[in-house]
Amino acid sequence: MGLPPLDRSTIWPFEGGEPGDFYYQRYAHPTGVAAERSLGELEGGEALLFSSGSGASTSVVLALLEPGNTIAVAEGCYYGTPTLFRELERWGLKHVEFDQTKAPPDGVQLVWLEAPSNPFLTMPNFEAAAAHPAPVLVDATAATPVHLRALERGADLVLHSATKYLSGHSDVLLGAVIARDEAKVARLREFRSRSGIVAAPDAAWLLLRGLKTLDLRVRRQTETAKELASRLDADPRVETVRYAGFGGLLSFDVAGGTGAARTVETSTSLIMNATSLGGAESTMESRHRWEGDRVPENLLRLSVGLEDVDELWADLEQALSG
Ligand code: PLP
Repeated sequence: MGLPPLDRSTIWPFEGGEPGDFYYQRYAHPTGVAAERSLGELEGGEALLFSSGSGASTSVVLALLEPGNTIAVAEGCYYGTPTLFRELERWGLKHVEFDQTKAPPDGVQLVWLEAPSNPFLTMPNFEAAAAHPAPVLVDATAATPVHLRALERGADLVLHSATKYLSGHSDVLLGAVIARDEAKVARLREFRSRSGIVAAPDAAWLLLRGLKTLDLRVRRQTETAKELASRLDADPRVETVRYAGFGGLLSFDVAGGTGAARTVETSTSLIMNATSLGGAESTMESRHRWEGDRVPENLLRLSVGLEDVDELWADLEQALSG
């Protein structure tokens, strides 16, 4: 089956003098609804698209929490998430970081997990989180529904930076939240329409295109990443390898400190020295640049693409020998 046509209209005529399903793009548009249906089926819930992963995070906390509420957020998760929460402190939002491999702390109104965390690649303790009275959100950007259906593991909300694997070609900024609880979905939808943190039809169409190959891409990336993780692990020029056992994301510490890591980071040719993850092309970068002392100075994060595993290894090998 082909993709639905891309409809960029911002307005549609009323039907019999009344607004129909589509009347103004900020409320809903056909391409977005089609993409939400596909993603919802993959995750086993109802999906809502937002203008970016960060826009999705902003919408969740502003729509579903109150001033004075506290979020327990997984330590070592995507650094932009606690950075956003700090930005919202002025509006009365509080957060505490906790070790997501253990039970979340008491006295919080939302538990925020990341599966696996970026760039530390830890996995949450789903059972302990589900036993907590607060709603649980899982940022499953790096796992994707190919490897994790978090709603089936007790999560109330699943969040994606669809910019990454779901779209998969490093050419669209997009976010998504998936939930089953109708009241939460309705509240998020209402907030989205009011705030305008909406996904454009072009972005939704690119998501639909990406989802067609999601399974193939992610399985191939997992296969390659597993092999690279084990070759890096056996290499004396590498100190620590972090890999969750699935998915295309891994990180490793280069032996010899910051200088050696900088050489490796800037010496690859097939692997692009660039930020982000989840694309068809492999990318690698130092995370210390962005995250400071939160990560080791010699940590490099590698997002494995769709290139040949031996060609990728040859590129890493020559960079490590540099
Ligand atoms: N969640 C994770 C795990 C991410 O890696 C990112 C981006 O790097 C985000 C959320 C934010 O997504 P976006 O860049 O689409 O706003």
